[in-house]
Amino acid sequence: MSSRAQAGASLADSQPDARGRYGEFGGRYVPETLVAALDRLQAGVDRHLGSADFQAEYARELATWVGRPTALSHAPTLSERWGAEVWLKREDLAHTGAHKINNAVGQTLLAKRLGAKRIIAETGAGQHGVASAAAAARLGMPCVVYMGAVDVERQAPNVGRMKLLGATVVPVTSGDATLRAAIDEALREWVSDPQNTYYSIGSAVGPHPYPYLVRELQSVIGREARSQMLALAGALPDVAVACVGGGSNAIGLFHPFLGDAGVHLLGIEAGGRGPGLGDNAASLTFGTPGVLQGSYTLILQDEHGQVRETHSVSAGLDYSGVGPEHAHLMRSGRVAYEAATDEESLDALSECARYEGILPAIETAHAFAGARRYASAHPGARILIGCSGRGDKDMPILQRTLLRDLC
Ligand SMILES: *Cc1c(COP(=O)(O)O)cnc(C)c1O
Repeated sequence: MSSRAQAGASLADSQPDARGRYGEFGGRYVPETLVAALDRLQAGVDRHLGSADFQAEYARELATWVGRPTALSHAPTLSERWGAEVWLKREDLAHTGAHKINNAVGQTLLAKRLGAKRIIAETGAGQHGVASAAAAARLGMPCVVYMGAVDVERQAPNVGRMKLLGATVVPVTSGDATLRAAIDEALREWVSDPQNTYYSIGSAVGPHPYPYLVRELQSVIGREARSQMLALAGALPDVAVACVGGGSNAIGLFHPFLGDAGVHLLGIEAGGRGPGLGDNAASLTFGTPGVLQGSYTLILQDEHGQVRETHSVSAGLDYSGVGPEHAHLMRSGRVAYEAATDEESLDALSECARYEGILPAIETAHAFAGARRYASAHPGARILIGCSGRGDKDMPILQRTLLRDLC
C-alpha cells in the first residue's frame, strides 16, 4: 500500500476521551439506573470489539450474509450533467436495503458475546427495526422493536417485514409517539433487565459508548470506499458527501477520511420546508447545544429548552438531535454541514433514478442534492456520495409527491 493509501489510518482528534466526549460534546447524561448498564456495555466493547475473534466473525457475516464489500459505482450521466466526476458508494445494495445492517449485525454479535438473551431496538421509519429483526433471526436471538404508534401507522410495510422476520413490534403511545418516544421506551426497558437484554441503538447517538460503537461498526463503509476510490478512480475524492439524520452512515463514510487533509467532508441534513423551528430536522445547521437522550449535542429546541417536533419528507432524517461526534467535527471545522430542502431532495432523487438507474432512499437523496450544489460551485470536482439506502421503502410517499406530479 502506498503511503497515501495509509494516510487515512492516522485519525488525529477522533477518539472520545475517558468520559466519552468529543470536544465539548457527547458524554453520558443518564439516570443513575443506566450507569451500571452502560459501564457493562463499555467493558464489553473494550474487550470484544477489537478482538481478532470478534472481527473475524463480523467480517464473515458482512461478506457472506450482508453482501460486502458493496460496490463503488461511477455515475457517468450525473458526472456529465453536473460537470463533475461522481462516484457512488452503494450501501443500497447491502442486505435489507441500507447501511443499517452493518451496525445491527455488529451489535447483535456483541450482544451474544455479552451473554444477552434478547435484543431490543427502537425504530423510526422502520429500517433499523428491519435490520435488527433480520440480524436477530440470523443469529438466533429473540427481538423486540419499539416503534412510535404514529410510525407504526405510517410505515405499515416495514412493520410487516419485522413480524415476518420474527420480531415483536411494540407501538409506543407516549410523548410524540415517534422515534424520540421509541428511544425513551427502549432505554426504560433496558434498565428494567440489563443482564438479559441488549439494547441495539440504530444510529451514532445516545450516551457513551453508543456513538463510538456505532461509528466503529459503520466505518467499514469509508474503509471500503477509500480503497475502492484508489483502485477504481486512481485517486481519493475531493469531497465525500453523506446525509445526516442521527449521523451513522455519514460518520461511517467520513471517519476513514478524517486524516486525509485534501478530502473535504460534507454532511447534508434535512432542510424540510425551510429554516423555521419545526420546519426542518437540521440540528447541526439550526440547532443549539443541549442534552437529548443521554448526550450533550446540538438539538432543535425552543428558547425554554423544550425539544421541538421536526419535519422532513424523509422519515429516517426526522430527528431533533444528532450524534455528538458530528457536533464536534462541525465545531472543529473538519466537516462542513448544510441542509437540503424536501423539494431539492425529491428533485435530486428523480434525477438519480432517471439518469443512473438507481432509486435512492429519500434520506440518501439529500446527499445527492448537496453534492449537486457542491458540483456547481466546484466544477470538475471528484465527488464521492454515500448512497445510504434504496428507495423502495419510500414508494408510498413518492406516490403522493413526485408521482402525483408526473401523472
Ligand atoms: C436511517 C437512514 C438514514 C439516517 O440515519 P443515519 O444514522 O444518519 O445514517 C439515512 N439513510 C437511510 C437509507 C436510512 O435508512
